[in-house]
Amino acid sequence: QSLSFHVTRSDHPRSAAERAKILEKPGFGLHFTDHMVAVRWDKDTGWHDAAVMPYGPIALDPAAAVLHYGQEIFEGIKAYRHADGSVWTFRPEANGRRLQRSAARLALPELPVEIFVESLKQMIAVDKDWVSDADEASLYFRPFMIGDEAFLGVRGAHKASYYVIASPAGPYFAKGVAPVAIWLSTDYARAAKGGTGAAKCGGNYAASLLPQQQAQAQGCSQVLFLDPVEGKYLEELGGMNVFLVYGKRNTLVTPALSGSILEGITRESILQLARDRGMTVEERKVSIDEWKQGVASGDITEVFACGTAAVITPIGQLKGEGFTVGNLDAPAGEVTMSLRKELTDIQYGRLPDRHGWLV
Ligand code: PMP
Repeated sequence: QSLSFHVTRSDHPRSAAERAKILEKPGFGLHFTDHMVAVRWDKDTGWHDAAVMPYGPIALDPAAAVLHYGQEIFEGIKAYRHADGSVWTFRPEANGRRLQRSAARLALPELPVEIFVESLKQMIAVDKDWVSDADEASLYFRPFMIGDEAFLGVRGAHKASYYVIASPAGPYFAKGVAPVAIWLSTDYARAAKGGTGAAKCGGNYAASLLPQQQAQAQGCSQVLFLDPVEGKYLEELGGMNVFLVYGKRNTLVTPALSGSILEGITRESILQLARDRGMTVEERKVSIDEWKQGVASGDITEVFACGTAAVITPIGQLKGEGFTVGNLDAPAGEVTMSLRKELTDIQYGRLPDRHGWLV
C-alpha cells in the first residue's frame, strides 16, 4: 500500500543561524526539526490523510485510549550525512517490521512498511538541513503510534494516529567512547513471560524508570534486567542489548530472543558483522553466574551494550546487591571498539555497504 503525502511547509521555520546554533551542541532529544509527519487510521477506512506539517502540539480528546490504557508504540532510527552530502538511514525496513510486531501486540493497526519508509523520506525531504555533518552527529527519528479513539471501553484500536518527529543528535560520547557501569536489578523486571517485552511500547519504558533511578543512585548509567521467569539469565538493558566477548575463542555471545527481549537492529547487525569476520556467534541463555565467573577466569574479555542511540557502549563494570564485577578504569576492549568502528563506518559511508543496509 502507498499513500501520497500532503505537504504543508512551516511558515516560521528556524533560520539557518538558529539551526546552526542548535546543531553546534544538539545533545539528545532536546530540539526538534521544523516539521512532522501524521497519518491517520480508522477501522473503516484504513490508513489515510498522510501529511507533512509544521511541528507542533497534538490535540487529543481527553478520553483518547492512549491516555488511559497506554496504547502507544514507537521506533528509533537515525539519518546520517555522508561526506558527499547525501543522507541515509540504516535498515529502515527492519524498524518498520518491528513497529508492525509492536502494533500487533498492542492491538494497534500495522502500518505498511512502505509507508513507514516513505514517512522518513518525507521528513528528510523537508528537514534534511537538520542532518549535521559533524563527526558522529545524526538526525534521530522518533516514529510513534497511538490509539486515539475517544472511548473508555478497553478494546483493540478502532482509531489510531502515526506520527514522525525528528531530533538532531550529537555524538553520544562527547569526550570519546568510555566504559560505563551498569546495575543489575533484582528488585524489578522490565518484562514478563507472555508480556510486552518484545514490543517497543511506552509502558515498558515507564516501568523501567524506577529501576533506572536505583541504578543512577548506585553510580551506574543503565539497568541490566534478568529473565522474568527464573531470574537467572541476562535479558537486556533498559534501552540496549548486551554482548559478551570470549576473546580467546573468538566468540561473541548474546542472550537469545526469549520473547521478552527487544529485537535490536544494532544487535542483529553486530551478529552479522561478527559472522563476516569469522567469529563464532552464540545466541543462547547466559546466566549472571557465567558473567561473574567468566570475568574472574579471564575467559570473558569484554562486555558491551548496543543500540541505535549509542551504537556500541563498552561495559566496564557490573554492580549488584553486594557485588562488583570488572574494572571501570580498564580501557574499552579491542573487539568492542573495532565492531563499533566498522558499524559506524558503514553508517557514515566510510566503508562499502556490503549488506545493502543503507536507504
Ligand atoms: N533494547 C531496548 C529495550 C531498547 O529500547 C533498544 C532501543 N531501541 C534496544 C534494545 C536496541 O535496539 P536498536 O538496536 O534497534 O536500537
